[in-house]
Amino acid sequence: MLMEEERTAIVRSGRTIAKTLTKGTAGNLSIICREKGLVAITPSGIPYDAMTPQDVVVVDVDGTIREGNRKPSSELGLHLAIYRKNETAGAIVHTHSLYCTVLSCLGEPIRAVHYVLASTGEDSVPVVSYATYGTEELAEKVSEQMRVYRAVLMGNHGFVCCGEDLKEALSLAETCEWVAELQWKCMLAGRPKILPEEEIDRVKEKFRHYGQEQERSHGRHGYF
Ligand code: 13P
Ligand code: ZN
Repeated sequence: MLMEEERTAIVRSGRTIAKTLTKGTAGNLSIICREKGLVAITPSGIPYDAMTPQDVVVVDVDGTIREGNRKPSSELGLHLAIYRKNETAGAIVHTHSLYCTVLSCLGEPIRAVHYVLASTGEDSVPVVSYATYGTEELAEKVSEQMRVYRAVLMGNHGFVCCGEDLKEALSLAETCEWVAELQWKCMLAGRPKILPEEEIDRVKEKFRHYGQEQERSHGRHGYF
């Protein structure tokens, strides 16, 4: 089976996000193998807990199906555009996690209301204006932002991010959801105080040494 390890990892992570970050069949996950020019992506409309590695579709970087009998995710074009424009992307997570989606509907970026946002490597997460799901327009707009940002809110839709690997992308998605929830609750109660860029830079540096040196599995570190 092509990309067996990656397809298995996608199924496992799909089960995780179904419990934490998304509902039903919303959202999608992918991993790229740049040496082979292949991408493994979740199938469209199959519940995460029913998904098997065989259901995960393998395509080449132009989107031609190389293995799998399922229809690939409606956001295949979005994932491929992000991989094309951001060479650091090794995996992509798209969710409709509630609080990220709330902010996306308000047109409100995720801001540094808490220092933990620094672990994503970003000072803020911008919102891209609405475009219909699964369209080239959406893929174009979002991927343009992801030349510079690792995470983006998709207006009236949800959240997308990329990481070096799936583990990192998932941790980014969880951190962003936690900060988005906090920000939303702060906004309900008043006007949140936003940490200055210099402080976020200081925390980014501190996070490089956070936790146990020998147990680090990827470059950016935080609590998720
Ligand atoms: P798929 O099931 O086709 O991946 O669509 C879910 C989604 O979130 C579309 O944006
Ligand atoms: Zn979606």
